[in-house]
Amino acid sequence: MTVQKPHLVVVGSVAIDWIITPRAERPESVGGSATFFAMAASYLAQVRLVGVVGRDFPDYAVADLKAAGVDVSGLEIVQDGLTFRWKGQYHENMNDRTTLETHLNVFEKFQPNLPAEFRGSEYLFLANIQPRLQSDVFAQMQRPRLVGLDTMNLWISIANDDLKAVLKDVDVLTLNDEEARQLSGEHNIVKAARAIRALGPRNVVIKRGEYGALLFDADGEMFSAPALPLEDVVDPTGAGDSFAGGFMGWLARPGVEPNGASLRTAMIYGSVMASFCVEGFSYDRLKGLDQATIQKRFETFAALTNFARASLT
Ligand code: AMP
Repeated sequence: MTVQKPHLVVVGSVAIDWIITPRAERPESVGGSATFFAMAASYLAQVRLVGVVGRDFPDYAVADLKAAGVDVSGLEIVQDGLTFRWKGQYHENMNDRTTLETHLNVFEKFQPNLPAEFRGSEYLFLANIQPRLQSDVFAQMQRPRLVGLDTMNLWISIANDDLKAVLKDVDVLTLNDEEARQLSGEHNIVKAARAIRALGPRNVVIKRGEYGALLFDADGEMFSAPALPLEDVVDPTGAGDSFAGGFMGWLARPGVEPNGASLRTAMIYGSVMASFCVEGFSYDRLKGLDQATIQKRFETFAALTNFARASLT
């Protein structure tokens, strides 16, 4: 008898980005929160993608997702519309990013309709996109075991009520430190996490770019995962989504129960996938990885924080 692996549904943006870094520019870089998430998670779990693109979306990107084992039957292609487009610029400090343009395009009228076989999936990640769409997808799922969500400053500003409504059903929220401050109204990150947990998510992961990520878990415990210090960061776009892909991917492994210990391991797989993502433009570096390469980097992370317990007494 073959054991059916758990499935992980992701909804989010599938995009064509225009990326400007201090050293290079890529005007047609395939991106989107769901794309990065799916590419990263594909090494750990059976990923099912829900999203929409327009006629301008390149065929090769759909082929890359398929080659990674992602089920793209929930990706709608709208012939009379254009793909979501985002233009962003990184400054000398690559943690510092300015959004220059956001065009929702086909996302404006998107009504997600999940393929029947997606609805019973065990794991769900609501990647960054309009909170209303995140709610629509959640409502179509039967009874996922674990629900994660990511969002960003734009939605915290313009769709705050919709976001707070969907947050009530979320087990793990991932967001960056500025967004955590914006959502909670608290400057201190510990207070911000506590205030956010009061909105619904039992676990909160605060991403801090090159400084790693902090987990505030359901038991009130804290855990800190480093980011890998890299000499050459090519393009940080998608690091947060790749983190979420590694994180949720681990939790969706057969036999892994979500608890304080597995969430910590998930934080490291998240950090591992984010570290690969930033080494190239788009998902270039996430493509064609293998389990041995991923595992080697996992060990690098373990070594990075491994220290002997000592005592002065
Ligand atoms: P990250 O670097 O992890 O924050 O994610 C970057 C990706 O998010 C890019 O590939 C963009 O296409 C996508 N993105 C940017 N703004 C939005 C938005 N408002 N909603 C959904 N996705 C977005």
